Amino acid sequence: MKRTWRLKTAAAALMTLLIVMLAAGCGPQSQGKIVEGKVNVVTTFYPIYEFAKAIGGDDANVINLLPAGVEPHDWTPRSQDIVNTSKAQLFFYNGAGLEGWVPQFLKGLNRSSKVKAYEVSQGIKLIEADGEDEHEHHEGEGLRHQHHVDPHTWVSPKSAMIMAENMKNSYIEVDPAHKDAYNERYLNLKKRLEELDREFTGKLDKMPRKEIVVSHEAFGYLARDYGLTQHAIMGLSPDAEPRSRDLLELSNLVKEKGIHYIFFEELVSDRLAKTLASETGAEVLVLNPVEGLTEDQLKHGDDYFSLMRNNLTNLILALQE
Ligand SMILES: [Zn+2]
Repeated sequence: MKRTWRLKTAAAALMTLLIVMLAAGCGPQSQGKIVEGKVNVVTTFYPIYEFAKAIGGDDANVINLLPAGVEPHDWTPRSQDIVNTSKAQLFFYNGAGLEGWVPQFLKGLNRSSKVKAYEVSQGIKLIEADGEDEHEHHEGEGLRHQHHVDPHTWVSPKSAMIMAENMKNSYIEVDPAHKDAYNERYLNLKKRLEELDREFTGKLDKMPRKEIVVSHEAFGYLARDYGLTQHAIMGLSPDAEPRSRDLLELSNLVKEKGIHYIFFEELVSDRLAKTLASETGAEVLVLNPVEGLTEDQLKHGDDYFSLMRNNLTNLILALQE
């Protein structure tokens, strides 16, 4: 009797908790509020947020939609995001098919909204999806998972430079009075990106191995710009299930070429990377597609540059003879 009662109490408590969570709009919220007297900028996800802050400086208030620890491929906005974006002057999104929700979202903004939306990947030579992504087209999953181009532009410092320049131009368009300040901060960011680019080029050029095995296909631009070949367990979306044939082929490739490391990433399950590694005798290492920061990385003060430099360190380790 007592036990049943306890179970009932526990069940009731759980229900209450659930109701409270639903009422609060459970799950992580985007951070930030509109600030009067500044250029308010809404960004879709982390790297764009970081670059927008670097270029906007004191003249801008930047609100990022995606909270820490959230993977951007399947995220969709909430009502507060519509309120904030309607009041903002700028809306920066990656484009290249990453945020499939954007057209619908922009249509849903307040009619009085004067926000200008910019696809910051404009001008980057995009990588076409290779057509071998049938496994992404599961029935019932809808268009969100069908990428026709690789959306992961920011993972290469070379494309990040183009994105930064686009953002600078957009700032100057909506706030020409502070043109010089935007320009100066942009040049500073550009210099840091050029340094990063030189490190990647210089170090990866010398590595004897050129092939990387990754969990989700997020390193196409990095591979293209720095002479690597990417083999991915999963497709362009990290939640697509691989076909067993892919895993078998990859496993053979890893064994044949004697590849030492399988890369995985923090925001996505490492199950398949670990399976492949244990099957082939390889080890696992992190390669971060910089799609968002984890809570830990946030506390640690990590940013695009520190995560990309960690990536370079791990690439050097993996690409040794
Ligand atoms: Zn991705």
